[in-house]
Amino acid sequence: MRELIERLYREQTLAPGELRTLLLECRGEDLDFLMQKARAVAQSHFGNRIYIRGLIEIGNCCHNDCFYCGIRKSNRHLKRYRLDAETILACCRHGYELGFRTFVLQGGEDNYMNDDRVTEVVTAIRTEFPDVAITLSLGERPTLSYKRFFQAGANRYLLRHETHNEAHYRRLHPEDMSLSNRLRCLNDLKRIGFQTGTGIMVGSPGQTVDHLVEDILFIEQFRPQMIGIGPFLPHHDTPFASCPPGSLTQTLTLLSIFRLMHPQALIPSTTALASLTPDGREKGILAGANVVMPNLSPVEQRKNYALYDNKASMGSEAAEGLRLLAQRLAAIGYEIDKSRGDYPGKTL
Ligand code: SF4
Repeated sequence: MRELIERLYREQTLAPGELRTLLLECRGEDLDFLMQKARAVAQSHFGNRIYIRGLIEIGNCCHNDCFYCGIRKSNRHLKRYRLDAETILACCRHGYELGFRTFVLQGGEDNYMNDDRVTEVVTAIRTEFPDVAITLSLGERPTLSYKRFFQAGANRYLLRHETHNEAHYRRLHPEDMSLSNRLRCLNDLKRIGFQTGTGIMVGSPGQTVDHLVEDILFIEQFRPQMIGIGPFLPHHDTPFASCPPGSLTQTLTLLSIFRLMHPQALIPSTTALASLTPDGREKGILAGANVVMPNLSPVEQRKNYALYDNKASMGSEAAEGLRLLAQRLAAIGYEIDKSRGDYPGKTL
């Protein structure tokens, strides 16, 4: 096992069978060693500094029905909301004062948030805050829409592919969605010039180790600038309500593998990880993550953006809790970095 980890550290790649072995057998002291190597790589590029992104959940309306998602359209128990442009800007102003220099606008695929409305918001943020990075996470859109958002001043786009295996994709999504369109979107985003993020849920229903190996290989060839890895967490109003959550060990193993394969990638220690276990944020950083995304949404709406149950959005997960976050990071030897934190060499 140590030999495999050393080789992954040196060469940044392994054969599919070796990745499989790592995912199945790396436990205990071997996992500690893997995480230590991943940490060393992250520190060689980013020091002990962790970038912060202000997450603004702009609306929980979605016309899709992904089986794992708490804001899917079939969930009739959710109070739906949309933030208007002025409220989004107010969140940005608050975040800017707190020191955030990246805003992440995240929401469901909502026809109301059409190209004109998104472009208008992006333009307003870009005009008022010329020095910030604007990240969008608004799902699948036509190529032309992505071009408009980029021209309006958005810099980054997050779109997890969730699984690269067709049969597994079908297990997680209704018939009217397709893996090919998701991949088309990712290719568009990268070609247009966005710093592009993709990723997966670990332990989603029906996922096998072989699926994870496929995901690793896809991400290896796609070379995203950002990689989002979090555990699957069930939501009580979805078809997967009774499925078990993803495993902490497997999530950390994958985080470290991705860090070793993509030394300069921006890899968040996700809210899902922080929701799975109280010190999940710290564990993700110690496995090689270098980004956290505190919640900057209006406090009264945070409970309604419930992708899964028991989502962490207060305390050190909240933008107002930056001091607490700083203390928790200091306890493991890290500090907050308030710069924009672009992918090295990418400043657009
Ligand atoms: S995962 Fe995204 S696209 Fe799917 S239902 Fe949830 S918000 Fe909509």
